[in-house]
This record gives sequence, structure tokens and C-alpha cells, in this order.
Amino acid sequence: MKIISSPQFLQQDILRLKKEGKHVGFVPTMGNLHNGHLSLVNLIQPYCDVIVFSIFINPAQFSANEDFNSYPKTLREDIQKLDKLNVDYLFTPQNVDIYPFGSPRTTTKLHKLTQKLCGVSRPDHFKGVTTIINILFNIVLPDVAAFGKKDYQQYQIIKLMTEDLFLPIKIIGGEIIREPDGLAMSSRNRYLTDEERKKAILLHQSILATSHKINSGISFEQATESAIKKLKENTFKVDYFEIVKRNNLKSAKHGDKKLLIAAAAWLGRSRLIDNQEVNL
Ligand code: AMP
Repeated sequence: MKIISSPQFLQQDILRLKKEGKHVGFVPTMGNLHNGHLSLVNLIQPYCDVIVFSIFINPAQFSANEDFNSYPKTLREDIQKLDKLNVDYLFTPQNVDIYPFGSPRTTTKLHKLTQKLCGVSRPDHFKGVTTIINILFNIVLPDVAAFGKKDYQQYQIIKLMTEDLFLPIKIIGGEIIREPDGLAMSSRNRYLTDEERKKAILLHQSILATSHKINSGISFEQATESAIKKLKENTFKVDYFEIVKRNNLKSAKHGDKKLLIAAAAWLGRSRLIDNQEVNL
């Protein structure tokens, strides 16, 4: 695995490989790798000849009161994990490599989807996400890129961005990888105290319970209300708990079939997110 932090050097290699007819696959991350991230490498492998994996904690997607400064940095362990997989390039740029002119500029048109769910409490988040992904796409020039459905809204927004900007990149989505008790793997789980860690599975459990309820005919409102009540009783601060249509993330109505139950809630200093696709 070749480790490169210069966008120019990486791009030179990629252009040479593309001239040789190689297909490039890309997995962007912020590091502190767990099996959720690593699953995306296995997912993308059949679609490409060369895999580029990036680790960059993007300041532009954190607002001032968020955890940019404390976000876990574990590059040495991350490299050991990636060495065991079929990754050809690890791209580890610094802020100055990505944003040489200082504060980042928006490089993409923002879709309406960016204002829903996580976009309500994190108003600039998706502006930062689409900007960095667009910059990384321009450096890496991938034919295919993989995103986890744990961040379902992000996955949908990136798909729309590639359509809006006519980017010739296939976007593939990876299923959510969970801890044995059901908690979705996340770099932010390490902020949980032991007591919070035990409670954290309630988020996934509430989503599953909601899925069972709506499958058995209970109304969407009743099902989400009882999930929110249960989470609040267990000291979660619920950011949102919604049943939405998968294609546009608008509130689902009776009769809608392809649904997503999506939730975000604070437990102590960790903001947990999770979701479940439901076909009624
Ligand atoms: P992050 O480092 O948190 O920005 O995540 C990088 C990529 O890994 C994103 O596409 C995430 O959706 C994906 N990812 C993170 N956690 C999981 C998980 N538990 N299961 C599947 N994909 C994940």
C-alpha cells in the first residue's frame, strides 16, 4: 500500500493507471477505522482494479461547537488494518493540501435533501461534506466510490450530487456494520461511558420496534411517539426520530411503501445516528 499525502502526486499516479485502462475505486473516511469502514473496501473490490482509501478529518463539516478537535486520530492502527486488505493507495492529506487558500469554498450545488434530518441540527454539515467529497473526487478521479448506509442521508446526497454535476462516478452503498449487540459501529462510540454504552443499543432496538409496529399496522405517528418516549425515559436527547420515504427523505404517509426509519440522538457527549430500511 502506497501512502501519499500530496494531491498532485496521487493524481499523477491515478492518471497513469487510468491510461493503462485501470478502473479506480475510492473509499473516503475520517479514519479511526472499524469494520464498518473496512467493509467498504471489500464491497468496492469487484468494481475496480485499484483501490484508493482516504483518511482526512474534514474541518469544513464540523461546526464550531462540534468535536473536530477531539475527533479520534489513530493513523498508525488504521494503517495496520488497511495493510491486511487489498488497498493500493492510502491518501492522507493535511488541511493545507486540501484547502490551500484557507477557509474552504463550496464546490457544489446543495440539494434540498441537505436541509432534512441531520441537516436541521447541523445546518452547514452537508455543505462541508459535499464540498470535500467533490474535491476528493477531483483528486482521485474514481470510477466508483463506496459510502456506508449508516450515514444514509449522506449516501443519498452524494448520489444526487454526482447526478447534478454529471460526474461519471458510480456510487455504491454498504450495509450498516454493527457491534454484536446491535449498536451501529461508529468512531464516536468511543465517547460513550460504560453506562452509556449499555444504553446505546436502545437506539437500534427502538428503530427495530418501530419497524415491527408499522409492519403490524400501527400508525407511523404512534410508533415514532412511543420510540421517542422510550429513548427520552432512558436519558437520550432525541434530535429526530422519523419515518421517511427513502427516495427523497420526506415524511412518509400512510400508503407509502419504501421507507426509512432514521434517528439521531445524543447520549452524554455522543451523537448517535442509526437507521433501517423498511419495505411495507
Ligand atoms: P466516517 O469516517 O465516519 O466519515 O465514515 C466513512 C465512511 O464509512 C462513510 O461512508 C460511512 O457511512 C461509512 N461507515 C461508518 N460507519 C459505518 C458502519 N457502521 N457501517 C457501514 N458503513 C459505515
